[in-house]
Formats: sequence, C-alpha cells, structure tokens
Amino acid sequence: MTGTDRARRTAADHVDVAIVGAGILGCVTARETLARFPGASIAVIERDAVAAGASRRSAGLHFPRGSSAAVRAMAEHSERYYRTLKEEDPALPIFGLDTTVVAATAGADRLAEHYLPGTLHRTDRLPHGPAGRVHLPEGSGAWQVDGGQYADVHALTQCLAAQLRPAVRFLEGTRVVTVDSRPDGVGLALSSGATLTASKVLLAPGPWLKETAWQPWTAGLGLRVKKVVALHVERRPRPTDGAVVFEDDDAFLLPVHHRGHWLFSYTCAQWDVRPDGTDHCLTPVELAEARSVLDRFAPELVPLCTTGRVFCDAYSPDRVPVVRPVDDFMNVIFAGAANGSGYRLAPAIAADAARLLCPTTVPRSHP
Ligand SMILES: Cc1cc2nc3c(=O)[nH]c(=O)nc-3n(C[C@H](O)[C@H](O)[C@H](O)COP(=O)(O)OP(=O)(O)OC[C@H]3O[C@@H](n4cnc5c(N)ncnc54)[C@H](O)[C@@H]3O)c2cc1C
Repeated sequence: MTGTDRARRTAADHVDVAIVGAGILGCVTARETLARFPGASIAVIERDAVAAGASRRSAGLHFPRGSSAAVRAMAEHSERYYRTLKEEDPALPIFGLDTTVVAATAGADRLAEHYLPGTLHRTDRLPHGPAGRVHLPEGSGAWQVDGGQYADVHALTQCLAAQLRPAVRFLEGTRVVTVDSRPDGVGLALSSGATLTASKVLLAPGPWLKETAWQPWTAGLGLRVKKVVALHVERRPRPTDGAVVFEDDDAFLLPVHHRGHWLFSYTCAQWDVRPDGTDHCLTPVELAEARSVLDRFAPELVPLCTTGRVFCDAYSPDRVPVVRPVDDFMNVIFAGAANGSGYRLAPAIAADAARLLCPTTVPRSHP
C-alpha cells in the first residue's frame, strides 16, 4: 500500500460522527448534525436496511401532548420541525389530520395540562370512526385538538436517508459488533470485518438495547422494552376522516389513508420482549384485549379487526426520552427510549443528540 493509499484509507475509515441505527431517530439526527456541523463526515451504520426496526411498524401519529413539561416541549419542537420539513418538500409522506380527543369530563383539567396550551377545543361534534360516529361512554366528552398529523414513517425515513446521500455514508447490512471508547475517539468493529473510528458516536438502536456492543452502558439506564400492538381495521377511510384519541385508555383510531385501512392502537402491557424474537405476531390475548377497549367506543368495528402490526419499543422509567453520554470520555451518546412516541418526538431527541455530537452547540429552541 502506498503512502497516498494509506492516507486515503485512513481518511475513509475515520468519521467525525458515526450514528448506529438508521431508524427515524438516526436519520433525523444525521440531518440535524449536518445542519449544525456543515462539512462533517458522518456515517450511519445499520444492521438491516434503513427504517427496518420500530420505524417500519410505526403508526406515525403525532398530536401535541406530553404528560410532563419536558415531553410537551419536545412535542412542540417536533411539530414545528415536521411542519418546516413538509413546507420545504411537500412530497414527503407527512399528512395533516383532524384529531379528536375523547376523555372523561371529570378529568378535563388534567387533560388541559397534558396538551400544549390553546390546542384543545371542546366540541359537541362526535368524531367519525370507520363505521359512523364513535360512541361517547357515559361521563366522557370530546375535544378537537390542533396540530395533529401522521406520517408513513417507513417511507419518510427512507426519503430523509435518500436526501442525505451522498453527504452522509449509509452502511446498511452492517452490524456494529463492538464499540471501544478511548480518550481520543471511538473504535467500531463491524460485522463486515471492517473497522471505523469516529470522534463521536451516537447509539440510536431503538429497542435493540441488549446488543453486546453497548449493553454494559445501557444496562444502567433503567430502560425496558415493551411490546406495541395496533390492530388493522379493514375499512377504507374517507378522505376527510381524522384520528380519535381515547385519552384515558392510551389508545387511538387512525385512518391510514395511504394503506387504505384504519388502525386501532391500544396499550399492550407485555414487557421485556426482544426485537429479534419470534413473538412479533398478534396473539389471541392481545386481540381480545384490544377488542374489549374498542368495544366501548365502536362495537361495530370489533368484527373488522382480525389482523394488525406488532413490534416493540424502548421505554424509560420517567417516560421522558433519554439523550446522554454513556462512556467515561463523553464520546458515546445514547439517544432513544421515546416510550412509544419515537416518531413524534424524534426531531427534539435529535436536536439534543446533535448538540452533544457537534463541537459547537446551538440550543434546541433554534433549529
Ligand atoms: C406498532 C407501533 C406503532 C407505533 N406508533 C407510533 C405512533 O403512532 N407515534 C409515534 O410517535 N411513535 C409510534 N411508535 C414508536 C416509534 O415507531 C418508535 O419509537 C420509533 O420508530 C423509534 O425509532 P428509532 O429510530 O429510535 O428506532 P428504530 O426504528 O428501531 O431504529 C433502530 C435501528 O437500529 C438498528 N440496529 C440495532 N442494533 C444494531 C447494531 N448492532 N448495529 C447496527 N444497527 C443496529 C436496527 O436495525 C434499527 O433499524 C410505534 C411503534 C410501533 C412498534
């Protein structure tokens, strides 16, 4: 190997920032990092294909909610970010959506606290579901909420990756096997046999928390992985149909216009599942649980729900996403654990991550 070859190889095998995981979070963070650190060399390393993890199964619903002030601020930032993204490229698969929240009227004060100020409006107009009006259980009311949208997260993530190429290198079909943090940077061993060094590394592994490459770091964060289940309602939505959020059940009905059916997401309480496991199929128990929630609001839909989408997501103890250095030298950053809201909070998580990855920092409020 000549001196020139060696220099070229050395340059090719070193990047300023390596991002592990090409889900929505990894791709938005690559975009954020490039915007804040123009000219940075960035590699996104993905064991499968872009958006092959939780982002492939996401329902992609956004609404301006958060059960803590921190999450509400993140939701607000993300809403602005996606709006700008769509304005810049109207072809992106992000779609505005009328959204109605159904909740117990006795909990109206708490409801108002959980939504961004001024976004909730009490309404007498009952939301329309796939088979007529949704039933309001005794003691509950309906509120229209501003700012709702949903995305085809799988397609959106791939669009973002396509826009980033070739400024950002995408190493797909390449698993990160080890991450070695040193005072002068980070060494990554890849399944292809290649190695890469990076000044900073972002771990954005979605529910793959237990990979041996970073398990010792993530083990101390108190994160867990929960199954996420949404049933498909085999009825075509009308163009004007919107989403209905059942606040007290942490469930929602979403017209998935681009796929030609509705989706009913409910809260499955099965914890400590693995993303590589074989249990990403609907079980009779989950089908029965989801149907019993749906039965209270739209019993006529129950027979239409026989299939769905099943995967998992990472959750944090306080239900606030985690963005923090995990190694002794502050060169390896973990970002994720968005608690089933990783589409709608990705831009805010990415802004915090990019701030830790870039040599000069810009606060999240100035994207
Ligand atoms: C059924 C379902 C419905 C959902 N609905 C919504 C919703 O309506 N709204 C919302 O906001 N959120 C929703 N979510 C949650 C949201 O989809 C996730 O929080 C989000 O997609 C997480 O994105 P991510 O980029 O962090 O992780 P992922 O998309 O999982 O990406 C992580 C990537 O890391 C890669 N990886 C892992 N280990 C390695 C390794 N060793 N080397 C290289 N690469 C590796 C994986 O292959 C994967 O592609 C839903 C989730 C599910 C499952």
